[in-house]
Amino acid sequence: MQFKDIIGQEATKKQLVEMVNRSRLSHALFFLGKEGTGALPLAMAFAQYILCENKTEGESCGVCPACKKAAGLIHPDIHYSFPVIPKKSGDKPISSDYLPEWREFIKGLPYGNVYDWLQSIQAENKQGNITTEECNDIFRQLALKSYEAEYKILILWMPEYLGVAGNKLLKLIEEPPEKTLFILVAENEEKVLGTILSRTQLVKIPVLDNLEVATALEQKANLSADQALQVAALSNGNYREAIHLAGHNEEDWQSYLRDWLNAILQGGNIVLVKWIEDVAKLGRENQKQFLFYFNHLLGQSIRLRILGPEGFPISEKDRDFALNSTRSPLLVSRR
Ligand SMILES: [Zn+2]
Repeated sequence: MQFKDIIGQEATKKQLVEMVNRSRLSHALFFLGKEGTGALPLAMAFAQYILCENKTEGESCGVCPACKKAAGLIHPDIHYSFPVIPKKSGDKPISSDYLPEWREFIKGLPYGNVYDWLQSIQAENKQGNITTEECNDIFRQLALKSYEAEYKILILWMPEYLGVAGNKLLKLIEEPPEKTLFILVAENEEKVLGTILSRTQLVKIPVLDNLEVATALEQKANLSADQALQVAALSNGNYREAIHLAGHNEEDWQSYLRDWLNAILQGGNIVLVKWIEDVAKLGRENQKQFLFYFNHLLGQSIRLRILGPEGFPISEKDRDFALNSTRSPLLVSRR
């Protein structure tokens, strides 16, 4: 993973690069970013940058042996810890039991959340954990001398899942072995042990803006510019959600909405009942998306009135629809 693979987050990338270049690297960083901000891929790109043998100002080279190993998640000096489940009952699982699955997951869903991860290892209803055994394994891994690089790096994803086992790590975080870097990557600081928080340096990963999400959707998910803007506006800066929405974009919410408003205003009961029957067949998730879209479009209409069409990014389709319906709020014509 290189910085260029990470959506947006330019200010944070710069901040991280400066930490390295000015030798101000703290030995324990706490990356705090909500779901879909890319905190985990950013931590991975940062680890690769640190270990790269041929980095330029602000980016890893991508081709040196260290970069290639980091990108393949096989660098012996980058250790990953994440929530796991027992493979069979009574098992005491550690993260490295799941390394092949982890590599697949990161390759397919780098912006996925812990739910996606646990589903990918068939956790079903089982609760994931970062276990005491994993904490012991971290000790063991970090006690070893680094194999190839100057630094040993531990990326611990979702310290929310540490529980009391986390107390075991305190001493290690407080007095780490030489040339060791901890990167904790969390979504919710309130669920992380305060004692861990207080021993780390906070790096806040902000929510993406709509334009960044839209550009990424165009480039990485092959959406048209207009579709991308529409999906981005619904995702609230959460790229995971945006990918999810893009996958379910086959239904054209706007035409459902237009038919609904027409049925209410012009169609009479029979048309309305027909519409209700059609929408009933969509299923709960799609109905939720539809209502979400309707709510979003109302918001866009109000913004259009206040800010005007140039005041914020909006898809052409949404703009036309919102403008038409705000001009004649009681009649929404079928185009
Ligand atoms: Zn490199």
